[in-house]
Amino acid sequence: MQQASPLIEARGVKVYFPVRKGLFGSIAYVRAVDGVSVAIPRGGILTLLGESGCGKTTLGKTIAGLIKPTAGEILYKGKPINRMRKKEYMVYRRSVQIVHQDPYAALNPTKTVFQTLSFPLKRWKIARSRRELREKVIELLETVGLTPPEDFLNKYPHQLSGGQRQRVVIARAISVNPELIVADEPITMIDVSLRLGILDLLLGLREKLGTAYLFITHDFGAARYFTAKGGGVIAVMYLGKVVEMGPAEAVIHDPLHPYTDILIQAVPEPDPDKMRNAKPIKLRSLDIPSPLNPPKGCKFHTRCPYAWERCEKEEPPLVELKPGHSVACWLKLRR
Ligand code: SF4
Repeated sequence: MQQASPLIEARGVKVYFPVRKGLFGSIAYVRAVDGVSVAIPRGGILTLLGESGCGKTTLGKTIAGLIKPTAGEILYKGKPINRMRKKEYMVYRRSVQIVHQDPYAALNPTKTVFQTLSFPLKRWKIARSRRELREKVIELLETVGLTPPEDFLNKYPHQLSGGQRQRVVIARAISVNPELIVADEPITMIDVSLRLGILDLLLGLREKLGTAYLFITHDFGAARYFTAKGGGVIAVMYLGKVVEMGPAEAVIHDPLHPYTDILIQAVPEPDPDKMRNAKPIKLRSLDIPSPLNPPKGCKFHTRCPYAWERCEKEEPPLVELKPGHSVACWLKLRR
């Protein structure tokens, strides 16, 4: 039987941004994403995890069609988006919605909640009359837990808390019935006490609506909670590359790449005894190399405590070592 193609696939995607060295200098390229292949099944979760500047947001925007890749392609249900006809492309653009990191900047301060949520409903002709519009907006507010909805309809963004604003942003994203939501650090700018509520809301919407997620985060704790609870896949990124990818449980409990180990170690341990007995891995350097001039060989070798000669010369490929669990590290590949 022929297997259905993934909902979204990135194949060998590279995104390079040109920058000029000095006023009249030569052009150099920031290799934000440097040859990444990932796939998101229908209703699935893929989490991109890594430090700031690793290329995860650029990859997310490329998958959402907001950035054109320098090389490689994005496929929606098996079809490259750059070869789509206008009508097909519009279906794809509607099917992939973004929830941005900053709920303060994502909402127009001059529009009420009703006006904000009405816009996509009118734009995509989901609601045609004023009555239908109001009913649909009320339903959306109830779905994202802003109740009683009548209390929120005429509020402006400045009258809402950070968590409430992010719920409005999520309501706007789901208003057009997307198949994939790119959630880019959706809890980073929200009070700690409200973060779990937003993650649970996103997971609940997946149950209810079957939405798939590309979840982007620098926080291993958030990646663990969201991806493991949703049974998804974690892809760990470093300087534009995926260095480890696998089912959440495998990456969390049996990490294969030293960089993943370090990310796990960075999560605060609430048990003081465990903290005292922990043997932290010491990085060779705390400086992240520039994506303008990334190191040769393994990009992590300037910081990796296990690096040896080969790591400085040859770049390790991403190889599947266990079912669905891949790593790019000579330490594991030489066995
Ligand atoms: Fe470290 Fe070498 Fe593995 Fe890179 S390839 S992570 S430098 S051991």
